[in-house]
Formats: sequence, structure tokens, C-alpha cells
Amino acid sequence: MSEISVTLPDGSVRHVPAGSTPADVAAAISPRLAGAAIAAIVNGRPVDLDVPLATDASVQILTDRGTDALHVYRHSTAHLLAAAVTNLFPGVQCGIGPATDEGFFYDFVVPRPFVPEDLEAIEKKMKELAAQDLPYQRQMWPREEAIAYFTSRGEPLKVQLIEEKTDGQREVSVYTIKDRQTFVDFCVGPHVPSTSRLKGFKLLNTSNAYWKGDAKNQPMQRIYGTAFFSEKELQAYLQRIEEAKKRDHRKLGRELGLFTFHAWAPGAAFWLAKGTTLYNTLADYMRGVLFPSGYVEVKTPLVYNKALWETSGHWQHYRENMFVVESRDGEPMGMKAMNCPGHMLVFASDVRSYRDLPLRFHEQTPLHRNEASGVLAGLTRVRQFSQDDAHCFVTQEQIGAEVERLIRLVQRVYSDFGLPFVAKLSTRPDEFLGEVATWDHAEAQLKQALDAAGMAYELNEKDGAFYGPKIDFDITDALGRRWQCGTIQLDYQIPQRFDLKYVGADNAEHRPIVIHRAIFGSFERFIAILIEHYAGAFPLWLAPLQAVVLPIADRHADYAAGVRNRLAAAGLRVELDARQEKINYKIREAQLQKIPYMLVAGDREVAEGTVSVRSRSGGDQGARTVDEFVRQALAEVTAKGEPEAGLAAAS
Ligand SMILES: [Zn+2]
Ligand SMILES: [Zn+2]
Repeated sequence: MSEISVTLPDGSVRHVPAGSTPADVAAAISPRLAGAAIAAIVNGRPVDLDVPLATDASVQILTDRGTDALHVYRHSTAHLLAAAVTNLFPGVQCGIGPATDEGFFYDFVVPRPFVPEDLEAIEKKMKELAAQDLPYQRQMWPREEAIAYFTSRGEPLKVQLIEEKTDGQREVSVYTIKDRQTFVDFCVGPHVPSTSRLKGFKLLNTSNAYWKGDAKNQPMQRIYGTAFFSEKELQAYLQRIEEAKKRDHRKLGRELGLFTFHAWAPGAAFWLAKGTTLYNTLADYMRGVLFPSGYVEVKTPLVYNKALWETSGHWQHYRENMFVVESRDGEPMGMKAMNCPGHMLVFASDVRSYRDLPLRFHEQTPLHRNEASGVLAGLTRVRQFSQDDAHCFVTQEQIGAEVERLIRLVQRVYSDFGLPFVAKLSTRPDEFLGEVATWDHAEAQLKQALDAAGMAYELNEKDGAFYGPKIDFDITDALGRRWQCGTIQLDYQIPQRFDLKYVGADNAEHRPIVIHRAIFGSFERFIAILIEHYAGAFPLWLAPLQAVVLPIADRHADYAAGVRNRLAAAGLRVELDARQEKINYKIREAQLQKIPYMLVAGDREVAEGTVSVRSRSGGDQGARTVDEFVRQALAEVTAKGEPEAGLAAAS
């Protein structure tokens, strides 16, 4: 029998008989690996464990770790879900069932929407099928036979998929679980070898869906679930989503009186008093970071003639995302969806010399994007928002130093919020504008800047924008979720489109380079992240209301008002709760509002000129003079620390 050589991920080579499967390869390596194997990657392609290897190949055995393996595992669980649904609901039609970053889903055509009891029954059935250790088996059927089979079963959607995806093929790939009676699906695979391999899965919820995501198509019901390699990982995940629900910024935004929405302004927040304070605190914080770093703030128009958008290219490529309006003279106008084009006009409004560069324009005015109503979600996907946006105009030689300064700004800002983060460098994509040499030079400068700033980074080859390479920053919140916020993008194209020039030391005209950059990203989205990260319990420097003064009885109200005034005069955000309620009730309410400090005033405090301090999470902190409290609170604001930490340090 002829032999083939199999190259393993560590570079070692094994010789096995031709026709061996990845399962055989795993068994030859170790029984433990054979037991843990769920699929394989052969020559870069994920395949089933029982696919015969005809020629020399590179083989990686997928076990219970890594995203590739989890993807196969979750998709296999989607099949199990469909098997359970088709068993329990005869006549149901199956759509598609992919794995996702968080789990999997499967779409079905059913006579009535699923109810929670259905999900319980389906999950129970899935567990039964899993316990029976049923094999996933791939079969190649003649295409006509597959079409006839799914037609006879009343599954026109599957027939449509086969017709679209296998045009010109003689055979199509289908998978059974156990046999045709138990479950059969049109699918290219791969899957785990058998149902008993699926250990930790849970159905989560259902939603309305449409065939191929198009509202003009057949309405369907989607079942979402998730799956992990072990029950323990599953439980940890379920706990995390439970916690995420509690922290949902839409829920906390309402409970804490930060913002609201109305159906007549979809995707645009109404910032209530406390939310506006938080917003302004962040806006002023950012100004405080940027101004000493050489930025100037500008305000540019919100509505522009279409000529501007034609020059920038947005009219041709982005118009469907813009709100287009008309002036009373019938001129087509576009509402500003980003600040860049306006900043180009500001740059071009004067003669610029090399001595002026780098020139840095910062702007926080509102932007509008015409998002589809279906994708709007709280503050994370909106139609109106503001960015902590800026454009830096630099010479070719200044790129490295400017990017290094930017990375240091990003590092400073995220550390002020206690947010860990990572950087990702994205390089020249296949479709790009400009010269390769220019790109190489820019990418080299970005790498140097990252190294100089001591910033580790992931490399995303070919993931840059068509107009230049970029560095993106992902922060990780308290629940371990990653959010992309900051970005630094080099742009060689927009200065050309606007024919920007500066006069160089040689007295000749040169083209500047533009760096688009943001650190928060949008204020709206960043606030959503902060609300969920802190679970609404903002550190003192961010808390919309930093302290509340609580008189115990009416006779303490004047004294309490005096305390309130002294705190306010010192620049603290403070309220007086003089309602005729029991002190414990008032404390509980302040606690629910997550106010960092509650200052209680009764007979003793009035007599001694003090307040009894309670902190949101540390409880009773004892009595302090008003001056002492003010001093400690202001120190804590300056340090941007947590409430308890500040007081503990001070006492
Ligand atoms: Zn499949
Ligand atoms: Zn920009």
C-alpha cells in the first residue's frame, strides 16, 4: 500500500497509508488526541475526521480549544437543534443554521411563533439526541436526487439553496444525524463525529427573521442558542450574559435618568440633565487632554451643498447613509456624516506653511447617519452622535512622531478610565489607491511609532482602508467584552481630493497627509460602554451627581442647605434631599441612584459642624468636617479614582 506524508502543525512529518483519515492520524499520535478530536484542518480547509487523505497533506487536529474548533462545535449544535425541531414539529421547514461569535442560530418556517415552553421541549429533545451518541455522516448525493428529495419533503428553501450554491456540480453534500429519518440537511460541513461530543449547549431566545434577511421574503422564526466545550464554560458564559443584562445601558440609562428616546426621533438620544452632565464631563475632559497637546477646536457647518460631498467622494459612495435635504432654492444638500470634508475646507481657507504643521483640528459637533431603523440599538447604533474627532495635517516626515504622540494620548485616556486595551495595525489591502512605496513608508512609520510608545499590537494584514494604513484600539470592559473605540488612520487621498497644499522650506508647494483620529470614537457609544463597564456606578470624577446631602429631620434642613452650598461652591455636583421621608428611605434611594457620597446631617452633625459620610459601596465612613470632606472629594476627583479608594487613602 502506498504511503503519504502528513505534516503536523509543529512541522513534524508522519507517514501513513494513503486513504488514512485525520482520525487515523490522531490515533497514531496518541489515544488521548484521538478521543479529543472533533474535526480537522487539512491543507487549510476544515474537514470531517473521516475524510480519507489521498495525497501528502498538512493536517491539524481540532480538539476542544480554539475558535476554529468552537465554530465546528457550534455549527454541529445548530444541526442538533434542527434535528430536534424537525422531530417535534413535523412539517417545519429549515432555513440556515450558522455558528456565530456568541453561539449559533437556526431559522425555521413554522405555523406559529415559538414560545418559551417550545424552547424547553426542544432543548430536552436535543439532550436526548446527544445522549444517544448519533453519528454525523456526510453523504454525496446526485444533485437531481437531492433536489427531488427536499422537494418531496416540502422544503423549497433547501431546494433553492441547492440550486443557487451547487450550480454545475454533479453531486451535493448532505449530512445526516443517524439517518435520513432522524435528520438530514444540505451542508458542506464539517461537523463533530457524533452527537455525544456536544456537552454544553443552551437555547437562549427566539426572534423574527426573514429568509436571507430580507423583509420581502418568507417570514421565519430564529432560535438562538450557544454552546461551549464544557458545561462549566457554558455556565460562566450564561452568568456573564445575566450580568450584561443587569448592566444594559438602555436599562440603566432609564433608571439613572441619563437619557431617553422617542419614536419621533429614531436613533437620536434625548439627553436628560444627568446624562448631559456626564456627556459634558467627557467633552471637557477630552478638551483638557487635547488642548495642551497642541489641538485647536473648530466648529464646522452641519449641512453642506452636495458639491462638498462630491469632492470628498461621499456623494458617489456614501449617499444612502446620509440625510439628504434640499434648500429652499432647490439645492441638494447633505447633512454632515463625518467632519473630515469640513476640516479640509478649514485647512484650505488659509495659506499654510510647513512651520504650521502639524496642524490639529478637533471638533465635537453632531453628526448624522441615515442608519436603517432595524439596526438602531440604544446608544451603540444611532443616527445622531458626536465624535471626539480630530484631523492632524502633517508632512511625510512627521508621520512617525505624530502617530507616536497619538498612541500616547490613547494610552493616557484609556488608563484614566481603567480600561485595558490592545492595538491592531492594519496594512495595505488588495484594493488600494496610491504608490506601494508610499504605503510601505507609512506602515514602517506606524510600526516604529507603536514600538517607540511601547505598545504591543496585533497585525491585521491587508485590513487597512483603501486610502491608507490604520491603527485601531480595542478596549476590554469589566465583563471581558472587546469594543473597538479609538482609531488612527492615515489618509493620502483626501488631501488630493481637496487639493490641499502647504509651502515647504524650499518655498515650493507640497501635499500634506491627513491623519483621522478618535479616542472615544463616538461619545454616545463610549458612554454606553462606560455605563455597562461601571454598571452605572461611575467613579466620582464622572458621576453626574457626586453627593447628596440628607437632613434627618426638618430642623436640620437649613444646615444641610448650607452644606450643599459649600460643596457646590467648591465645584462639586451636589443635591439636597430635603423631602420629609425617613432617612433610611432617602439613603436607599440615593444608593439605587448610585450616588458616590451621601452626607447625613442630624443633631450631632449640626452641633459639631460636620457631616456623617456614607459611600456608595463602603457604607458608613464616619463624621468629617465639611471642609475635610470637600478636600478629600476634590482630591479623589483629581485622581480619577474610585470613591472608597479615595477616602481610604485620605483617612
Ligand atoms: Zn452543517
Ligand atoms: Zn476623518
